[in-house]
Formats: sequence, C-alpha cells, structure tokens
Amino acid sequence: MTKVFKWGVVVFVIMVVLIVGGLVLVNLFSNLEIPNLTSQRMDLGKAENSKEVTEYYEIYTQKLDSEEFIDLKVNSFIDNLVKEFKNNNKNEKPLFNKDKAVLKQVIDTYKVNDDLMGVKITSIAKNLFEDNYSTSIYTYNFSKEDESLITLDELFDNRYKEVIPDGSYDNYLLTSDGIELYNKQYKSTIEYNTLLEYNASNKISAQNYQISQEEYDNMFKSNVDKNKKMVAITFDDGPHATNTLKILDILDRYDAKATFFMLGSNVINYQDVVKSVYERGNEIGIHTWNHNDLTKLSSDKILSEIDSTSTAIFNITGQRPKLVRPPYGAVNSVVKSTLCDYTLILWNIDSLDWKSRDENKIVPLVMNDVQDGDIILLHDIHATTVPAVEKIVKALDESGYQMVTVSELLDAKGYDTTSTKLFYSARQ
Ligand SMILES: [Zn+2]
Repeated sequence: MTKVFKWGVVVFVIMVVLIVGGLVLVNLFSNLEIPNLTSQRMDLGKAENSKEVTEYYEIYTQKLDSEEFIDLKVNSFIDNLVKEFKNNNKNEKPLFNKDKAVLKQVIDTYKVNDDLMGVKITSIAKNLFEDNYSTSIYTYNFSKEDESLITLDELFDNRYKEVIPDGSYDNYLLTSDGIELYNKQYKSTIEYNTLLEYNASNKISAQNYQISQEEYDNMFKSNVDKNKKMVAITFDDGPHATNTLKILDILDRYDAKATFFMLGSNVINYQDVVKSVYERGNEIGIHTWNHNDLTKLSSDKILSEIDSTSTAIFNITGQRPKLVRPPYGAVNSVVKSTLCDYTLILWNIDSLDWKSRDENKIVPLVMNDVQDGDIILLHDIHATTVPAVEKIVKALDESGYQMVTVSELLDAKGYDTTSTKLFYSARQ
C-alpha cells in the first residue's frame, strides 16, 4: 500500500515537473505564430527571400530579382517599409518571443500580356507587445516596353471611372483575370469583361465601354488555342513527395499543364509540392480530405471533407479550388446539391494506372481512345505512373494535342460552369 502510494507521489512529481517545464520552454522558445503567406504568382521571374531575426523583431521579406526596371522601385519601397518598421520597434526588449514585432512581406507578380504587368506587395505586421497583425497591400502596374508605371486612365481611356468610383480604393492591380481593387478592408475584382460589357442594367450604357473584340483579345489573350485540339490530364490522390515533382518536370518540358485533384491529408504533408504545382501553372482541385465515398456521407460531412481541403490548399496558394473530383467517381443527388458551388469533374479516359502499375498497359489505354476534349484519369501517387506520363505526354504532343487544365478545357470548349455542374469530358 505505502509502496504504491510512494510511487504514485514520484510519478505525480515527475509529471508536474515535466508539464511546468514544458510550458516554460514552450513560452520561451516556441516560434512566433506567423500568418501563412506565400507568393502566389511570379510571372516576372523570381523573388529573393531574406530573414532577419533579432531580440526585438523578426522580419521576413522578399526582393524582386527579375532584371526589369521595376525591381529598383519595388525593392527600395520595401527597404523603406523595413526601415520604418525597425524604427518603430526598438524601444523595449521583449522577454517572450510572442511579444516580438513581426513583419512579413511577399511579392506576387502578374502578367496581363507580354507588355502589361502588375506587382503586388502584401505586408503583414505587428508591433512590439501587440497580438494582432495588420495587413497592407501595395501595388505597382507598369508597361515593360515603355519601362514606365501606368495608370488606369492610360489603359482604359477614362472609361473605367464610372465602374470604379474614384477614391473607393487605395490600390489597383492588373492581373490576367481582371483588375483587383484593394482598400483597407476588402478586395474586389473587376473582370475585364465587365469593363467591356457594361450594360443598361448598370448605370452607364454599353456604348461607353466598347473596346473592339480584337483589341480585347490582343490585350488579354490566353495561351490556349481554341482551334487546336486539346485534352485535360488529371492526377488524383496526391500530392506525392517525389512522383508529383517528377510529373511536373515532364509537363514543363512539353509546356503542358494538368489538373491535380488533391487529398487534404496529403496537402498538409507536402505543402512545398502543392506550391510548386500551383506556381508552375497547373490547376488544383479537391479530392476530399480522406478519400471517403461521398455518397455514403451526410451533407454536413461532405461539406467538411471539401471545406477542410479547400482551406488547406488556400493557405498555401491563396486560391480556393473550384473543381471537385469525388472519390471513386461516386456521385448522387445529395452530393450534387451539397456541392452546388463547385463543378464536379469525372473523366472519360481511365488509364487504370492504379490497377496495372504497368506503363505498357497504361499508355495504350489512354492513347487508343483519346479525342479532342477528353479528360484523362491518372494517379500521381504511383511511381509506375511517372514513366507512363512521360510517354503519354510525348505522344499527345506529337499528335498535336494541347495539354490544358480542366478549367481551361471547359472554357475553351465554351461550357458554362455556372449552369452545368458535372462533366465527364468536353468532347463535342
Ligand atoms: Zn482517388
């Protein structure tokens, strides 16, 4: 009895020491909780990362390294922000990491066409002893050819002013999707179409916004040639630490793009791979968190599988996927109505790569049937799929196919994803 009691006391004391010690250690040495922030698009080349950690602050910044005239402007602007931040945060040395000041800045660059570019600097900061971060956005828009900054007036000949009220935003950014407007609280995007097709339902007449279709096409043309045949290659169940990267290299060699339907449980484990997939121009879709058959789940469970995966991807890319591939291709009316905000993407060419694990079987299954508009199913988690992809991409390229993302395919084939919510292919 006493022996048991004694041991109980010893165990209790050890546990108390461990817990208290652990708490003290966590407090003293834990990393600051820094909001996740990564570059999204680097159409202008790369950015150099730098990090400066002192007893007062932690500063993470990027510098443009694109050999464009804009580098100097952006980099000296960032230097000034950093200088100001340091000046504001040198008064009192904090005891705990969590009280340090933090500044984190990332640069995203966007290409509208070969001439027009936008640069966005996102800056999040908290001062010494503060808990909350504040976010600021700064933008530069410029013409590469003229080596000059450009204004909306110059671009849209004053006609934008009635769509975008003066003074309602602090910054605007040209991207390939449209003009993004930022003010302290919110961001809104005006698609270039809106500027073109502004009509009677709005306060000004369409007349005011007529830019010729040709002008428009030249300004914002996509790389997809609608007159050339195309397919969308899709990869499920990843990302995978090595196979996915090998596949990205193959795609890049042929200037091909693909769509990766990812599992949330893999996304959090291979965040750098997710980032590469996105930054190299591929599309990311959702394949649920745990590969559950959605037809066996309640609406709530379906949504939580999809939302959690969406958030995990958003935290890395800054974009929420629009496409969902239900595991096993299993869909019923509950799945469809629950996921009405998404487009469900199935496939019409099944490589059965997961089953055969044999490139000599995978390649003919794809190549014997393939046609313009097809959606091809592969899995980037299997090593045996990689050599098959090499052969498939080469063969498709030689047969004159463009390899595009699912969204590019549906768009090029003229499908409206706001009305049709489920696709097996875009064959016509
Ligand atoms: Zn799957």
